Amino acid sequence: MSTPTPHPLTLPLLAGERRALAKAITLTESTRPDHEAQAQQLLADVLPRAGKSVRVGLTGVPGVGKSTFIEALGVWLADQGHRVAVLAVDPSSARTGGSIMGDKTRMPQLTVHPNAYIRPSPSGGTLGGVARRTREAITLCEAAGFDVILVETVGVGQSETQVAAMTDLFVLLTLPNAGDELQGIKRGIMELADVCVVNKADTNLQAATRAQTELRTALTLLTPHDAPWRPVALKASALSGQGIPEVWAQVQAYREATDLDAKRRAQTAVWFDDLLREAVWRRFQAGVDAGQIQAMRAGVQAGTLTPVQGVAALLRS
Ligand code: GDP
Repeated sequence: MSTPTPHPLTLPLLAGERRALAKAITLTESTRPDHEAQAQQLLADVLPRAGKSVRVGLTGVPGVGKSTFIEALGVWLADQGHRVAVLAVDPSSARTGGSIMGDKTRMPQLTVHPNAYIRPSPSGGTLGGVARRTREAITLCEAAGFDVILVETVGVGQSETQVAAMTDLFVLLTLPNAGDELQGIKRGIMELADVCVVNKADTNLQAATRAQTELRTALTLLTPHDAPWRPVALKASALSGQGIPEVWAQVQAYREATDLDAKRRAQTAVWFDDLLREAVWRRFQAGVDAGQIQAMRAGVQAGTLTPVQGVAALLRS
């Protein structure tokens, strides 16, 4: 659907100009209808040039060392010539001031690295809205030549599922005191993990090794026998940088073991279906009196009609 004249940001973005990238992402975050239209044009312009990156999701409870780990991994990769973009999905940032903070002091070395770009979570809106903007930011970063995209999330809720749905693989950071820690991690988040890392192994190597063993057992129990990839558990110290290359080696191994094209195609299809469902629902809501839905819901709750009858009646109206 792209028009013959490209958006003014298209060429500088494709040339890898950082300011153009920042402006482009800001455009996708705007809710002004004319900005939205421009953003979609820009995305359509650059789409053929996107997709050539390693997309890694990262999570872990606050304090586990996510910023420190991303800084260590990011600098290690950027020093080797990779171009690393760090994005975040943190729907809480609007409400509470943020578990993932927008300020750049969290990753001081990566922030000033010429090969890195750090963008805080879009703020405001629903989780779906925040996730959509982060997906679009991934496309823009890829078009600007970033070949590693690290997407961080807070490790406490629904945003993990969203991040897992937009990345190639998911890294879960945990702490050496595994017994307590495993209880704190929601089972659902464990199920998303492709690579688990016991961080802060420098603080207590013995406990970290024990935690690693426990994680391995848990992961074995959670993984179906016919899975193309068996999640791994590693130890690392984000502070000293120990174990970081081993984590990256597992990222590469994962990418080799799985059919990434198929995975990404499936992710895109799910994303499209989600957007369609949302759009249809919005249109339906716009065309029907809110009181009617409420009345039907009350009827269903009271047992005067079945849910299916209620839905059918609303669709007929
Ligand atoms: P986040 O909330 O998950 O982003 O965690 P941070 O990266 O802010 O780290 C929380 C604290 O743990 C900071 O004081 C870090 O310096 C410290 N930390 C992070 N990684 C390590 C590590 O591998 N070893 C040690 N000893 N401390 C670490």
